[in-house]
Amino acid sequence: MNARNHPLESPGRTTAEWQAADAAHFLHPFTDHRALAGRGTRVIERGEGIHLWDTEGKKILDAMSGLWCVNVGYGRRELIDAATRQLERLPFYNSFFQTTTPPAIELAELLAEVTPPQFEHVFFSSSGSESNDTIVRMVRRYWDLLGQPQRQVIIGRENGYHGSTMAGASLGGMKGMHAQGGLPIPGIEHIGQPYQFEHGRGMDRAEFGRVAAGWLEQKILAIGPDKVAAFIGEPVQGAGGVIVPPETYWPEIQRICDQYGILLVSDEVICGFGRTGHWFGCERFRTRPDLMTFAKGVTSGYVPLGGVMVGERVARVLIEQGGEFAHGYTYSGHPVACAVALANIRLMQREGLVERVREDTGPYLARQFEALEDHPLVGDAETCGLMGALHLLRDKAAGTPFDPALEVGMVCRAHCFGNGLIMRAVGDRMIIAPPLVMTRAQIDEMGALIRRCLDLTLAELRERGWF
Ligand SMILES: *Cc1c(COP(=O)(O)O)cnc(C)c1O
Repeated sequence: MNARNHPLESPGRTTAEWQAADAAHFLHPFTDHRALAGRGTRVIERGEGIHLWDTEGKKILDAMSGLWCVNVGYGRRELIDAATRQLERLPFYNSFFQTTTPPAIELAELLAEVTPPQFEHVFFSSSGSESNDTIVRMVRRYWDLLGQPQRQVIIGRENGYHGSTMAGASLGGMKGMHAQGGLPIPGIEHIGQPYQFEHGRGMDRAEFGRVAAGWLEQKILAIGPDKVAAFIGEPVQGAGGVIVPPETYWPEIQRICDQYGILLVSDEVICGFGRTGHWFGCERFRTRPDLMTFAKGVTSGYVPLGGVMVGERVARVLIEQGGEFAHGYTYSGHPVACAVALANIRLMQREGLVERVREDTGPYLARQFEALEDHPLVGDAETCGLMGALHLLRDKAAGTPFDPALEVGMVCRAHCFGNGLIMRAVGDRMIIAPPLVMTRAQIDEMGALIRRCLDLTLAELRERGWF
């Protein structure tokens, strides 16, 4: 019998047995393994719509869409059937040696349709990290072909996230990652992030946006404009804590890239495929990137797929100048992944999910979050489409943060888990990115859960004398 018919039964083992085997053999990503083994993992066993169930039978509202990816929700028949059909017909073939497969071709065509007009070509990978690795090689190849091999430097941002491979982690600006493994690799520089709480308190927001974008120009001039190849950024920083930039920021970044002729790369791994209420974050912030990386939402996370949308400025040079671009992955254009992406994107089109987020559920979530600003712990609440952040502060009137050593965000996160809600803590910013299929009623349900968890957090902080 199908496991779905037994929602409360975990397959085969008790939770304690799963945890013991997990601790014995599975090194989890971004995890202190010794600490985790002490605490034990939550074993997630089943999903339906916006909810998950663990092996204890506990129902959890997944306000993080897995890891920013399950945008159409769990258990969607169209995606499952697309994968099954493709697995039966042709589970794998490569696209290296003058070969290709129908799902990869059809997906390339559909991506050209849903992306902004400058994009007619795609290079496939299987993850966001691989996509950003591809960026480093493709951007440098582009300038080589144009006879400017000295243009090597790619500029990213502090607290940006572009993945965990050597190049991805280098482009990103996570200090903890740079401290391990000799990163960043040569030829990568960083500027400050457009986070007003950190860099521009008391400043007019529009003015701060222009100032933060100006750091790019200063960096270009310091390096030498003839040495700079590209700038990369996420439209809204996701893993950095849902940092929504001022409206003045991206237009000024675009102007600077244009002025110095450097390529603009938009990392759309989170913002792409509807998260901001537009198909791509660059459309929300009105930039014209030369390259866009994507992953996560392209398949709603059902199977791994990523890629780079290559704008005509770059594609024309790569194609017309000829010569082999010595780069690719075994799974570039994987037929099963592409079949699932096709089903996912068509489902989004059929249900009008992007428009729904832009016109209905996004603004509705924004009002819910504004209402949470009256909570004593919430210093600031911001959203962009269906992602949002609540910044927990010790004194919201004075803008005083908690001592980071107290890990107040983790206290809140534990209450969320305890009460059937998955929110992520980035420092003391509590963040969400719920499935795009969420209804108003489900947003109400989530809002009530968030408020309850904030109340419980407040009570615990008072008990400990931290508030
Ligand atoms: C998740 C993420 C990546 C990395 O994607 P992986 O599939 O984990 O390699 C890159 N960029 C952004 C903006 C991301 O959020």
